[in-house]
Amino acid sequence: MRKLELDFAEAGVDALLVQTLPNIRYLTGFTGSNAGCLVTADGQTTLFTDPRYTVQASEEFAGGETRIITKHRMMALAAVEHLSRRRGVRIGYDPAATSVAELRQMEAKLPKGAKLVTVEGVVEKQRQVKDDTEIALIRESVKVNSAAFDATVRKIKPGLRESDIAAELEYQQRKKGASGPSFETIVASGPRTALPHAHPTDARIGPDILLLIDMGASRGGYASDMTRMLHLGRPSAKVRGWYEAVLEAQLAALDSIRAGVTAGSVDRAAREMLKAKGFGELFTHSTGHGLGLEIHEMPGIRAKDKTKLRPGMAITVEPGIYIAGEGGIRIEDTVVVTQNGCDILTPTTKEFVSL
Ligand code: ZN
Ligand code: ZN
Repeated sequence: MRKLELDFAEAGVDALLVQTLPNIRYLTGFTGSNAGCLVTADGQTTLFTDPRYTVQASEEFAGGETRIITKHRMMALAAVEHLSRRRGVRIGYDPAATSVAELRQMEAKLPKGAKLVTVEGVVEKQRQVKDDTEIALIRESVKVNSAAFDATVRKIKPGLRESDIAAELEYQQRKKGASGPSFETIVASGPRTALPHAHPTDARIGPDILLLIDMGASRGGYASDMTRMLHLGRPSAKVRGWYEAVLEAQLAALDSIRAGVTAGSVDRAAREMLKAKGFGELFTHSTGHGLGLEIHEMPGIRAKDKTKLRPGMAITVEPGIYIAGEGGIRIEDTVVVTQNGCDILTPTTKEFVSL
Protein backbone atom coordinates (compact mmCIF):
# COMPACT_ATOMS: atom_id res chain seq x y z
CA MET A 1 0.00 0.00 0.00
CA ARG A 2 1.25 3.49 -0.83
CA LYS A 3 0.59 6.63 1.14
CA LEU A 4 -1.48 9.24 -0.65
CA GLU A 5 0.42 12.53 -0.84
CA LEU A 6 -2.43 14.92 -0.27
CA ASP A 7 -2.77 17.83 2.11
CA PHE A 8 -6.40 17.19 3.00
CA ALA A 9 -6.81 20.49 4.85
CA GLU A 10 -5.45 22.48 1.94
CA ALA A 11 -7.68 20.58 -0.50
CA GLY A 12 -10.63 21.26 1.80
CA VAL A 13 -11.69 17.60 2.08
CA ASP A 14 -11.94 14.90 4.76
CA ALA A 15 -11.81 11.99 2.33
CA LEU A 16 -10.78 11.39 -1.25
CA LEU A 17 -12.65 9.04 -3.55
CA VAL A 18 -10.27 7.33 -5.98
CA GLN A 19 -11.94 5.74 -9.00
CA THR A 20 -9.64 4.93 -11.89
CA LEU A 21 -8.15 1.43 -11.78
CA PRO A 22 -4.49 2.50 -12.28
CA ASN A 23 -4.84 4.95 -9.37
CA ILE A 24 -6.43 2.26 -7.21
CA ARG A 25 -3.71 -0.21 -8.17
CA TYR A 26 -1.05 2.38 -7.36
CA LEU A 27 -2.43 3.06 -3.88
CA THR A 28 -3.62 -0.40 -2.85
CA GLY A 29 -1.93 -2.96 -5.10
CA PHE A 30 -5.34 -4.32 -6.13
CA THR A 31 -5.44 -5.34 -9.81
CA GLY A 32 -9.11 -6.34 -10.26
CA SER A 33 -11.29 -4.78 -12.94
CA ASN A 34 -14.02 -3.33 -10.71
CA ALA A 35 -13.15 -1.25 -7.68
CA GLY A 36 -13.39 2.03 -5.85
CA CYS A 37 -11.21 3.30 -3.07
CA LEU A 38 -11.62 5.85 -0.32
CA VAL A 39 -8.75 7.47 1.57
CA THR A 40 -9.60 9.54 4.63
CA ALA A 41 -7.62 12.35 6.22
CA ASP A 42 -6.62 10.10 9.13
CA GLY A 43 -4.86 7.77 6.68
CA GLN A 44 -7.47 4.99 6.49
CA THR A 45 -7.81 3.34 3.10
CA THR A 46 -10.93 1.36 2.22
CA LEU A 47 -11.16 -0.70 -0.95
CA PHE A 48 -14.54 -1.47 -2.50
CA THR A 49 -14.97 -4.31 -4.95
CA ASP A 50 -17.46 -7.04 -5.89
CA PRO A 51 -17.66 -10.72 -4.85
CA ARG A 52 -15.66 -11.96 -7.86
CA TYR A 53 -12.62 -10.37 -6.23
CA THR A 54 -13.01 -11.38 -2.57
CA VAL A 55 -9.98 -13.69 -2.63
CA GLN A 56 -7.87 -11.50 -4.90
CA ALA A 57 -8.47 -8.42 -2.75
CA SER A 58 -7.41 -10.29 0.38
CA GLU A 59 -4.23 -11.43 -1.37
CA GLU A 60 -3.30 -8.10 -2.93
CA PHE A 61 -4.47 -5.46 -0.50
CA ALA A 62 -3.14 -5.29 3.02
CA GLY A 63 -3.11 -2.35 5.39
CA GLY A 64 -6.71 -1.32 5.02
CA GLU A 65 -10.28 -2.53 5.00
CA THR A 66 -11.93 -4.24 2.03
CA ARG A 67 -15.69 -3.95 1.55
CA ILE A 68 -17.30 -6.42 -0.80
CA ILE A 69 -20.29 -4.81 -2.47
CA THR A 70 -22.85 -7.50 -3.18
CA LYS A 71 -25.70 -5.39 -4.44
CA HIS A 72 -25.42 -4.31 -8.03
CA ARG A 73 -24.47 -0.71 -7.59
CA MET A 74 -21.70 1.70 -8.28
CA MET A 75 -18.51 1.63 -6.23
CA ALA A 76 -18.61 5.43 -5.91
CA LEU A 77 -22.03 5.19 -4.28
CA ALA A 78 -20.78 2.46 -1.93
CA ALA A 79 -17.93 4.76 -0.90
CA VAL A 80 -20.31 7.61 -0.09
CA GLU A 81 -22.62 5.29 1.85
CA HIS A 82 -19.58 4.11 3.80
CA LEU A 83 -19.35 7.64 5.19
CA SER A 84 -23.08 7.89 5.91
CA ARG A 85 -22.59 8.37 9.65
CA ARG A 86 -20.21 11.28 9.23
CA ARG A 87 -22.29 14.43 9.18
CA GLY A 88 -20.77 17.31 7.28
CA VAL A 89 -18.06 15.18 5.70
CA ARG A 90 -16.38 16.74 2.65
CA ILE A 91 -15.66 14.14 -0.01
CA GLY A 92 -13.18 14.88 -2.77
CA TYR A 93 -13.78 13.39 -6.20
CA ASP A 94 -12.14 13.85 -9.58
CA PRO A 95 -14.59 14.97 -12.28
CA ALA A 96 -12.34 13.37 -14.91
CA ALA A 97 -12.95 9.97 -13.30
CA THR A 98 -16.62 10.31 -12.31
CA SER A 99 -19.57 9.75 -14.60
CA VAL A 100 -22.61 11.99 -14.47
CA ALA A 101 -24.65 8.98 -13.29
CA GLU A 102 -22.24 8.34 -10.41
CA LEU A 103 -22.25 12.00 -9.42
CA ARG A 104 -26.08 12.08 -9.34
CA GLN A 105 -26.25 8.92 -7.22
CA MET A 106 -23.65 10.24 -4.81
CA GLU A 107 -25.43 13.58 -4.48
CA ALA A 108 -28.69 11.79 -3.74
CA LYS A 109 -27.10 9.72 -0.94
CA LEU A 110 -24.87 12.30 0.70
CA PRO A 111 -24.96 12.27 4.51
CA LYS A 112 -26.49 15.28 6.21
CA GLY A 113 -24.50 18.48 5.70
CA ALA A 114 -21.93 16.62 3.60
CA LYS A 115 -20.61 17.95 0.34
CA LEU A 116 -18.75 16.83 -2.74
CA VAL A 117 -15.62 18.80 -3.62
CA THR A 118 -13.67 18.49 -6.88
CA VAL A 119 -10.02 17.50 -6.44
CA GLU A 120 -8.23 16.96 -9.73
CA GLY A 121 -5.39 14.64 -10.68
CA VAL A 122 -3.85 14.16 -7.21
CA VAL A 123 -2.81 10.53 -7.70
CA GLU A 124 -1.76 11.13 -11.31
CA LYS A 125 0.61 13.88 -10.15
CA GLN A 126 2.04 11.65 -7.44
CA ARG A 127 2.50 8.83 -9.98
CA GLN A 128 4.78 10.99 -12.16
CA VAL A 129 7.78 10.25 -9.95
CA LYS A 130 8.44 6.53 -9.79
CA ASP A 131 9.87 4.78 -6.74
CA ASP A 132 12.63 2.15 -7.00
CA THR A 133 10.17 -0.75 -7.27
CA GLU A 134 8.39 0.94 -10.16
CA ILE A 135 11.62 1.81 -11.96
CA ALA A 136 12.76 -1.82 -11.64
CA LEU A 137 9.49 -2.96 -13.24
CA ILE A 138 9.75 -0.42 -16.08
CA ARG A 139 13.33 -1.55 -16.64
CA GLU A 140 12.16 -5.18 -16.90
CA SER A 141 9.35 -4.19 -19.24
CA VAL A 142 11.82 -2.35 -21.50
CA LYS A 143 14.15 -5.37 -21.51
CA VAL A 144 11.39 -7.79 -22.45
CA ASN A 145 10.21 -5.44 -25.16
CA SER A 146 13.64 -5.09 -26.75
CA ALA A 147 14.23 -8.84 -26.56
CA ALA A 148 10.94 -9.41 -28.41
CA PHE A 149 12.00 -6.86 -31.03
CA ASP A 150 15.38 -8.59 -31.54
CA ALA A 151 13.78 -12.03 -31.83
CA THR A 152 11.31 -10.73 -34.42
CA VAL A 153 13.74 -8.71 -36.53
CA ARG A 154 15.60 -11.91 -37.41
CA LYS A 155 12.44 -13.25 -39.03
CA ILE A 156 11.43 -10.19 -41.05
CA LYS A 157 11.60 -10.72 -44.80
CA PRO A 158 9.80 -9.50 -47.93
CA GLY A 159 6.40 -11.09 -48.43
CA LEU A 160 5.36 -10.98 -44.76
CA ARG A 161 2.32 -8.90 -43.92
CA GLU A 162 2.49 -5.99 -41.45
CA SER A 163 -0.02 -7.93 -39.34
CA ASP A 164 2.27 -11.03 -39.35
CA ILE A 165 5.09 -8.93 -37.91
CA ALA A 166 2.80 -7.38 -35.28
CA ALA A 167 1.57 -10.85 -34.27
CA GLU A 168 5.14 -12.14 -33.98
CA LEU A 169 6.20 -9.14 -31.88
CA GLU A 170 3.34 -9.69 -29.45
CA TYR A 171 3.95 -13.46 -29.31
CA GLN A 172 7.62 -12.82 -28.52
CA GLN A 173 6.69 -10.28 -25.85
CA ARG A 174 4.63 -12.90 -24.05
CA LYS A 175 7.29 -15.59 -24.52
CA LYS A 176 9.86 -13.30 -22.94
CA GLY A 177 7.72 -12.56 -19.90
CA ALA A 178 5.30 -9.77 -20.74
CA SER A 179 1.62 -10.08 -19.82
CA GLY A 180 0.93 -8.55 -23.25
CA PRO A 181 1.56 -5.40 -25.24
CA SER A 182 1.14 -2.12 -23.37
CA PHE A 183 -0.68 -0.65 -26.40
CA GLU A 184 -1.68 -1.81 -29.85
CA THR A 185 1.53 -2.63 -31.73
CA ILE A 186 2.24 -0.36 -34.69
CA VAL A 187 3.86 -1.88 -37.77
CA ALA A 188 3.82 0.36 -40.84
CA SER A 189 5.63 -0.10 -44.13
CA GLY A 190 6.43 2.17 -47.05
CA PRO A 191 4.26 5.32 -47.36
CA ARG A 192 2.18 4.13 -44.38
CA THR A 193 5.13 5.06 -42.13
CA ALA A 194 3.92 8.64 -42.67
CA LEU A 195 0.90 7.86 -40.44
CA PRO A 196 2.10 8.39 -36.84
CA HIS A 197 -0.47 5.92 -35.47
CA ALA A 198 -0.84 3.39 -38.29
CA HIS A 199 -2.67 0.12 -37.63
CA PRO A 200 -0.96 -2.95 -39.11
CA THR A 201 -2.69 -4.01 -42.34
CA ASP A 202 -2.66 -7.16 -44.47
CA ALA A 203 -0.29 -5.40 -46.89
CA ARG A 204 2.67 -7.58 -47.79
CA ILE A 205 5.99 -5.81 -47.41
CA GLY A 206 8.16 -5.43 -50.48
CA PRO A 207 11.86 -6.14 -50.92
CA ASP A 208 12.89 -2.47 -50.79
CA ILE A 209 10.89 -0.70 -48.16
CA LEU A 210 10.98 1.43 -45.02
CA LEU A 211 9.48 -0.18 -41.91
CA LEU A 212 8.38 1.49 -38.68
CA ILE A 213 7.79 -0.56 -35.52
CA ASP A 214 6.36 1.12 -32.40
CA MET A 215 5.84 -1.35 -29.58
CA GLY A 216 5.60 -1.63 -25.81
CA ALA A 217 5.38 -4.47 -23.34
CA SER A 218 3.44 -4.67 -20.11
CA ARG A 219 5.19 -6.40 -17.25
CA GLY A 220 4.13 -6.35 -13.62
CA GLY A 221 1.57 -3.75 -14.71
CA TYR A 222 4.23 -1.36 -16.04
CA ALA A 223 4.63 -0.18 -19.62
CA SER A 224 7.57 0.29 -21.93
CA ASP A 225 7.54 2.09 -25.28
CA MET A 226 10.00 2.02 -28.18
CA THR A 227 10.01 2.96 -31.86
CA ARG A 228 12.62 1.72 -34.30
CA MET A 229 13.02 2.05 -38.07
CA LEU A 230 14.23 -0.73 -40.31
CA HIS A 231 14.84 -0.80 -44.03
CA LEU A 232 14.50 -3.82 -46.28
CA GLY A 233 17.21 -3.32 -48.86
CA ARG A 234 19.40 -0.24 -48.95
CA PRO A 235 17.71 3.06 -48.08
CA SER A 236 18.01 5.97 -50.52
CA ALA A 237 20.13 9.00 -49.63
CA LYS A 238 16.92 10.94 -49.05
CA VAL A 239 15.57 8.44 -46.51
CA ARG A 240 18.96 8.26 -44.79
CA GLY A 241 18.84 12.07 -44.56
CA TRP A 242 15.46 11.91 -42.82
CA TYR A 243 16.78 9.29 -40.41
CA GLU A 244 19.92 11.30 -39.53
CA ALA A 245 17.85 14.41 -38.82
CA VAL A 246 15.41 12.59 -36.53
CA LEU A 247 18.23 10.80 -34.73
CA GLU A 248 20.01 14.10 -34.09
CA ALA A 249 16.78 15.60 -32.78
CA GLN A 250 16.24 12.61 -30.51
CA LEU A 251 19.81 12.81 -29.19
CA ALA A 252 19.47 16.57 -28.63
CA ALA A 253 16.28 16.00 -26.64
CA LEU A 254 17.91 13.23 -24.57
CA ASP A 255 20.86 15.52 -23.96
CA SER A 256 18.64 18.29 -22.64
CA ILE A 257 17.06 16.11 -19.94
CA ARG A 258 18.03 16.66 -16.32
CA ALA A 259 16.30 17.40 -13.05
CA GLY A 260 14.92 20.93 -12.92
CA VAL A 261 14.41 21.60 -16.63
CA THR A 262 10.82 21.83 -17.90
CA ALA A 263 9.14 19.17 -20.03
CA GLY A 264 8.61 21.94 -22.60
CA SER A 265 12.35 22.59 -22.91
CA VAL A 266 12.97 18.94 -23.87
CA ASP A 267 10.35 19.29 -26.59
CA ARG A 268 12.04 22.48 -27.75
CA ALA A 269 15.43 20.77 -28.03
CA ALA A 270 14.03 18.20 -30.49
CA ARG A 271 11.92 20.74 -32.38
CA GLU A 272 14.74 23.26 -32.86
CA MET A 273 17.05 20.59 -34.23
CA LEU A 274 14.45 19.49 -36.78
CA LYS A 275 13.74 23.10 -37.68
CA ALA A 276 17.46 23.69 -38.29
CA LYS A 277 17.47 20.69 -40.63
CA GLY A 278 14.48 22.07 -42.55
CA PHE A 279 12.00 19.51 -41.19
CA GLY A 280 10.31 21.65 -38.52
CA GLU A 281 6.91 21.61 -40.20
CA LEU A 282 6.92 17.83 -40.48
CA PHE A 283 7.22 17.16 -36.75
CA THR A 284 3.52 17.12 -36.00
CA HIS A 285 3.24 15.62 -32.50
CA SER A 286 4.76 16.14 -29.07
CA THR A 287 8.22 14.82 -28.19
CA GLY A 288 7.07 12.28 -25.62
CA HIS A 289 5.04 11.38 -22.57
CA GLY A 290 5.32 9.96 -19.10
CA LEU A 291 4.63 6.25 -18.72
CA GLY A 292 4.20 3.75 -15.93
CA LEU A 293 1.03 1.89 -14.97
CA GLU A 294 -0.44 3.53 -18.08
CA ILE A 295 1.18 4.05 -21.45
CA HIS A 296 0.38 7.77 -21.41
CA GLU A 297 0.93 9.57 -18.12
CA MET A 298 1.99 13.00 -16.95
CA PRO A 299 4.09 14.89 -17.80
CA GLY A 300 3.52 15.49 -21.50
CA ILE A 301 6.82 16.31 -23.22
CA ARG A 302 5.26 19.11 -25.21
CA ALA A 303 5.90 22.81 -25.79
CA LYS A 304 3.40 24.15 -23.27
CA ASP A 305 4.07 21.71 -20.42
CA LYS A 306 5.88 23.61 -17.68
CA THR A 307 6.31 20.61 -15.37
CA LYS A 308 9.82 20.63 -13.92
CA LEU A 309 11.44 17.23 -14.47
CA ARG A 310 12.32 15.37 -11.29
CA PRO A 311 14.58 12.37 -10.68
CA GLY A 312 12.52 9.20 -11.04
CA MET A 313 10.18 10.47 -13.74
CA ALA A 314 9.87 7.87 -16.52
CA ILE A 315 9.30 9.44 -19.94
CA THR A 316 9.61 8.67 -23.63
CA VAL A 317 11.58 10.70 -26.16
CA GLU A 318 10.17 10.19 -29.65
CA PRO A 319 10.51 12.93 -32.23
CA GLY A 320 9.40 12.08 -35.76
CA ILE A 321 8.84 13.53 -39.22
CA TYR A 322 6.07 12.53 -41.61
CA ILE A 323 5.96 13.19 -45.34
CA ALA A 324 2.48 12.37 -46.67
CA GLY A 325 2.51 9.83 -49.48
CA GLU A 326 6.23 9.14 -49.03
CA GLY A 327 7.14 7.97 -45.55
CA GLY A 328 7.98 8.86 -42.00
CA ILE A 329 10.66 8.34 -39.38
CA ARG A 330 10.29 8.15 -35.59
CA ILE A 331 12.86 7.05 -33.02
CA GLU A 332 11.73 6.44 -29.45
CA ASP A 333 13.39 5.42 -26.19
CA THR A 334 12.10 5.02 -22.66
CA VAL A 335 14.23 6.92 -20.12
CA VAL A 336 14.29 7.77 -16.42
CA VAL A 337 15.21 11.31 -15.35
CA THR A 338 18.21 11.56 -13.00
CA GLN A 339 19.73 14.52 -11.14
CA ASN A 340 22.24 15.34 -13.88
CA GLY A 341 20.77 13.73 -16.96
CA CYS A 342 18.77 10.64 -17.75
CA ASP A 343 19.14 6.90 -17.71
CA ILE A 344 18.27 5.57 -21.20
CA LEU A 345 16.66 2.23 -20.44
CA THR A 346 16.10 1.08 -24.04
CA PRO A 347 19.10 -1.09 -25.04
CA THR A 348 18.18 -1.52 -28.73
CA THR A 349 20.59 -0.03 -31.27
CA LYS A 350 19.66 3.21 -33.00
CA GLU A 351 21.71 2.42 -36.07
CA PHE A 352 19.51 2.50 -39.17
CA VAL A 353 19.45 -1.24 -39.74
CA SER A 354 19.09 -2.60 -43.30
CA LEU A 355 17.77 -6.13 -43.61
ZN1 ZN B 1 5.68 4.38 -28.99
ZN1 ZN C 1 5.28 6.76 -26.97
